[in-house]
Amino acid sequence: MFDTLSDRLTSVLQNLRGKGRLSDTDIDATAREIRIALLEADVALPVVRTFIARVKDRAKGAEVSGALNPAQQVVKIVNEELVAILGGETRRLTFAKTPPTVIMLAGLQGAGKTTLAGKLARWLKGQGHAPMLVACDLQRPNAVTQLQVVAERAGVAVFAPEPGNGVGDPVDVARRSIDAARRDQHDIVVVDTAGRLGVDEELMRQAADIKAAIGADEVLFVVDAMIGQDAVSTAEAFRDGVGFTGVVLTKLDGDARGGAALSVREVTGAPILFASNGEKLEDFDAFHPDRMASRILG
Ligand code: GDP
Repeated sequence: MFDTLSDRLTSVLQNLRGKGRLSDTDIDATAREIRIALLEADVALPVVRTFIARVKDRAKGAEVSGALNPAQQVVKIVNEELVAILGGETRRLTFAKTPPTVIMLAGLQGAGKTTLAGKLARWLKGQGHAPMLVACDLQRPNAVTQLQVVAERAGVAVFAPEPGNGVGDPVDVARRSIDAARRDQHDIVVVDTAGRLGVDEELMRQAADIKAAIGADEVLFVVDAMIGQDAVSTAEAFRDGVGFTGVVLTKLDGDARGGAALSVREVTGAPILFASNGEKLEDFDAFHPDRMASRILG
């Protein structure tokens, strides 16, 4: 296992305890440790550079004062900058003025979209909403059935193309789902879309067409935290091809470091709204930048 960022900082900062002020050498040594720890956590290099520049800047100007010794001061700065880069406050969903609010999920196949649809629906239901899931992943065999199973487990309605009508047109399904939601008084629809293993132009266009047809209030880019630095190029492709309003990180139960979170947030500027951390429907919560910062810090 790698040392955590905290371990690294503690060892390099140990000899600073007696000092009243951080020297440039101290700060450089600290920056080196932060750099290694972030690269080990799979944070993209340009993001590491920006981050270190910010921390160095603040550490240089910092007067060591009051209750904090220099080591604690640096840890505090690193923590604050991590929280800032992760978005600061938790960003909440934007709801439409006139229901239904349309939330569309986009991402690579296997990212966890269908599972997330169920988690999100369950979570929204728990908050007093009446969500409906919409099956627009008509590409992958079984995707519709999988969504129906997930909806049943979450105890929510699902809108899917009628069986026997061929593959069907996802844009048409999405459009009709909005009418159905209005009719059946669902205040939120969560639209599951198709994804490929790699970025695929045709599917990007399809997702963009669905988005335009139903005027999505939120497009959530769903990304597997385990793919590390690849998360950046995938996020850029979806940003340019479809456009999204927020990010959901999945499989955080498998990614101990959270490097993907840091990179995606910094590179795309899009807020992370939710975190998914397990296969069960209840393994899900709003994304809290401060908690993720503590986890990265170790
Ligand atoms: P989709 O292709 O994007 O719709 O992805 P799925 O929802 O089908 O998920 C792909 C696989 O990842 C399934 O085996 C899920 O059970 C699993 N999965 C989804 N979310 C999580 C998560 O947060 N943690 C873990 N460990 N597995 C997950």
